[in-house]
Amino acid sequence: MNDARSEIPVSTRPAAPSATPAVRPVRRGATGAPEADTSARASAASERASDIAARASDIAALAARATVAHALELVDVTDDRTVADMIELVSIPAPTFHELDRARRVRDRFVESGLPRAEIDAAGNVVARMAGAAADLRPVIVAAHLDTVFEAGVDLVVREDAGRLCAPGIADNARGLAALLALGRALLASGVRPRRPILLVATTGEEGRGDLRGVKHLFQERSPLREAAAFIALDGTGARRIVHRAVGSRRLRIDIDGVGGHSWGDRGLANPAHAVGRAIANLAALIEPDARDVALSVGRLGGGTSVNAVPEQAWLELDIRAESGASLDRIEARARAAVHGAVAAEIAARPMEPDALELRVTVIGDRPTGETPATNALVRTACAATTYFGAAPDLIAASTDANVPIALGIPAIAIGAGGESGRTHTTAEWYSNQGGVTGVQRALLVLLAVAGIAD
Ligand SMILES: [Zn+2]
Repeated sequence: MNDARSEIPVSTRPAAPSATPAVRPVRRGATGAPEADTSARASAASERASDIAARASDIAALAARATVAHALELVDVTDDRTVADMIELVSIPAPTFHELDRARRVRDRFVESGLPRAEIDAAGNVVARMAGAAADLRPVIVAAHLDTVFEAGVDLVVREDAGRLCAPGIADNARGLAALLALGRALLASGVRPRRPILLVATTGEEGRGDLRGVKHLFQERSPLREAAAFIALDGTGARRIVHRAVGSRRLRIDIDGVGGHSWGDRGLANPAHAVGRAIANLAALIEPDARDVALSVGRLGGGTSVNAVPEQAWLELDIRAESGASLDRIEARARAAVHGAVAAEIAARPMEPDALELRVTVIGDRPTGETPATNALVRTACAATTYFGAAPDLIAASTDANVPIALGIPAIAIGAGGESGRTHTTAEWYSNQGGVTGVQRALLVLLAVAGIAD
């Protein structure tokens, strides 16, 4: 494929990490404040500042082009439409694995805005394609996830309270979806001609047990999208965050089966619920109080049918997270040993019933780790676009749709879609449109800087 004429080169592989990266990830101290740079890194920090400034001038030149300026203006003048889209989309339930109704609405909105070929793929993703002036160039993908953490039946009526919109999922990720639609509208109506093809994708399965189902389908083996030039996820709010490091996760379901029986008549039976309790105690003991780069949490547990019965079955679900795959593997191995030890201890405590418990460990989630280096053109461009709007870029690690392309070596980031929010993942979630326009405009500039402009 001919990539020689792209305006801002974006490799399909992360650049090799350099000894003095031009942009260093901001590391947070325990208070959440950035840690002070050591003197050894002072020169890297000043390089970072000059590098971002240089790129900001590229961004300023891009923003000054007539069609791009028009697109930016359209984002502003259609802001009411964007907020109306958020309100409409958030009211359509979209629990993970049940995103279809919301997906259909997003597809219809793409079609209405002039993307007639928008379609829903086999994984439930909505995919809308915009032609590039150079059709043979690798595409840029911009995505926002459809699903929410809320179950069917949760009240999704939007309330207004002191200038805030309140509804479960209003920020995460109705905001990202509305921004995705706004980008499509502005690109089409402004007459801007991107050089690279652009794919606008609303994905399924980003939350909870979804295990990044939608984005994993996009990048499945032999998918031509594995050659994508870049991937930008719009997730949540804000106009400073740039997620370039992928926090991975390994999720385990632990099922413990027993014979079960009467709590008095069958006293002395090995008890699956007791084994789950022992397992949780062992797992909790694995958590090192000062470990900041790994997390381990039992998120759900259950089992049994009656208070006066020894359960036939009990279970728990465990979430392990880390920035490195090696850490994930290490903690997973320890967690498995801890659970086996718990079951063995419960059996040993009931010598009359050897082998009365059966343990099954199932991997129910596996999100890969990785990093788009801060020196990569995509990250630097996102930093520059952030600086262009007068904000300081905040380079962070998180778990998002970008995990999958990052792990495949495709330059990928996740950014907020503007505005402010709080109480995310609770029924008290709220959104304020303060800085909403800026967030969408930042995304537009990053997208166009990477896609290039034809004339
Ligand atoms: Zn989200």
